[in-house]
Amino acid sequence: MERITVYTARRIHTMDPGRPAARAIAIADGRIISVGTLQSMQPWLRRVAHDIDDRFQDDILMPGFIDPHTHLRMSGTYMGLHYVGPITSHGPDGPVSGLPGRDAVLGRLKQLVDEQNDPDSPIITWGYDPGMQGGHLDRDMLDRISDQVPIWVLSYAPHIVYTNTPMMARTGVADDTTAHGIGRYPDGRLNGWFIESRAVGQATRPVQRQVYRPGFGPAALLRQSQVAVRNGVTTVADLAWGFESFETEWNDHAKVVNEPDFPLRILLIPFDARLVAKYGADRFDYLNSMRAQATDKLAVHGVKFINDGSYPSMTLRLNFPGYLDGEVGLTGETPWEDMVECMLPYWQAGIQIHSHANGDQTVDMTLDTLAALQLRHPRFDHRFTIEHYCISTVAQGRRLAALGGLASVNPYFVHYRSLIHADSGFGPDRAEATARLGSLERAGVTFALHSDFNLVVGPMAPLTAAWVAVNRIAADDATVMAPGERISVDRALRAITVDAAFVLRRDHEIGSLEVGKLADLAVLGADPYEVESLALRDIPVRGTMVGGVPHMAND
Ligand SMILES: [Zn+2]
Repeated sequence: MERITVYTARRIHTMDPGRPAARAIAIADGRIISVGTLQSMQPWLRRVAHDIDDRFQDDILMPGFIDPHTHLRMSGTYMGLHYVGPITSHGPDGPVSGLPGRDAVLGRLKQLVDEQNDPDSPIITWGYDPGMQGGHLDRDMLDRISDQVPIWVLSYAPHIVYTNTPMMARTGVADDTTAHGIGRYPDGRLNGWFIESRAVGQATRPVQRQVYRPGFGPAALLRQSQVAVRNGVTTVADLAWGFESFETEWNDHAKVVNEPDFPLRILLIPFDARLVAKYGADRFDYLNSMRAQATDKLAVHGVKFINDGSYPSMTLRLNFPGYLDGEVGLTGETPWEDMVECMLPYWQAGIQIHSHANGDQTVDMTLDTLAALQLRHPRFDHRFTIEHYCISTVAQGRRLAALGGLASVNPYFVHYRSLIHADSGFGPDRAEATARLGSLERAGVTFALHSDFNLVVGPMAPLTAAWVAVNRIAADDATVMAPGERISVDRALRAITVDAAFVLRRDHEIGSLEVGKLADLAVLGADPYEVESLALRDIPVRGTMVGGVPHMAND
């Protein structure tokens, strides 16, 4: 190393429990040389030329936040479509206001149809939220807007496409189609719904080029990376690699992520169903070849299974007594009875499995599968991770611990949605106990907090995730949801730093500030260990540092 840069700070929280606090951090070649005080690091500073940089002397430094479940490229693409969601969105041309309810959405669709000159050109929209906007759309409703112009509405959490009759005709679905995820009215007529990945894929094919516009991916990544900087995030994982195209997605990422000034490390986690469809038995060779292209900014990791629907779309799978209104949700495209056989090759190859389970019935299936994998081929340190873990029981948390599994949890729903779903979908008990982090902590499960940004209604803001986890205050800003599921500030901060790194099997490189690790930091204007826990989400984020390169939020 030729030269060290030493940053001083009001306080540094290292998230290394052995050496938790510091006042200075020395960095060279993108890595940490020493963490401590100017005095403690003299053995280095006496030997190596160095600069002291005081620009952060009034700030708090922490390890850069890690969001272990996002979809930056895909959602950044959707954010460029006509928006019909409930909250303000941030598209390429700036903020777009939300629409309060279903009538407003239908009005907006009518307006788009009226502005449309070419009746053959479909109206393509994203963002509908059946929970917040007053119930699902369906074919008859959309036919009343137009039975001539094709209408395509993707839900905010993209587990459902709603279509009218002319759009449905373009997908090739006919009255006698009996495929997974094709919706019907109680009388058996097609209702215009396409639910879960295979059906959503079928509904998307006729509008593929309009939805995934060429060249849009890198621009979307650049936009989303600025959201990351503003929220202190320095590493994310994308959990749907291959959903559109393995090659296009990889190339879009490689084009921007490896640039020295791109402020984010990204792990791409391939989606099993697409991997099998595209590469079959050669998929392990393909993954190996892509692993060889990894850099410390962009790498392949693990494998993803999607095994039920989404929380906001109300398509997850529930145990007895089920949904309030008799809905049943939907499983993913891999049949549950085949799950052990489908996961076993990855398990045996030592590839970490990230298994999406939102509802408690799906959590049961996932735990049964993990137990069966352990019987077939016992493994230590497998880090099998249940993704989302939205609706669960205390017993499931203890069983997850007994099987050595981990959880990557979306806590934002507790604030943004649990009151809604007490009376819409899941009922009061399950809605209140959404994201049982306290139970996971008592059971001894290591867990991370994630946003799923931007495919569920909520921000990518780890300090807000921590605020929710610590306080569990609902959207009325008063009700505390399941107070026994609250966790401590320290535990919440671990879940957005070093425990999130553990879930991604990167805790030897990132997640805490220790000698030898990558120099990734979040720069904060107040101390999360000192402020009132209710003020956690108000802490200003001044920016980040990735591999020793500063990125300031207002640059
Ligand atoms: Zn996701």
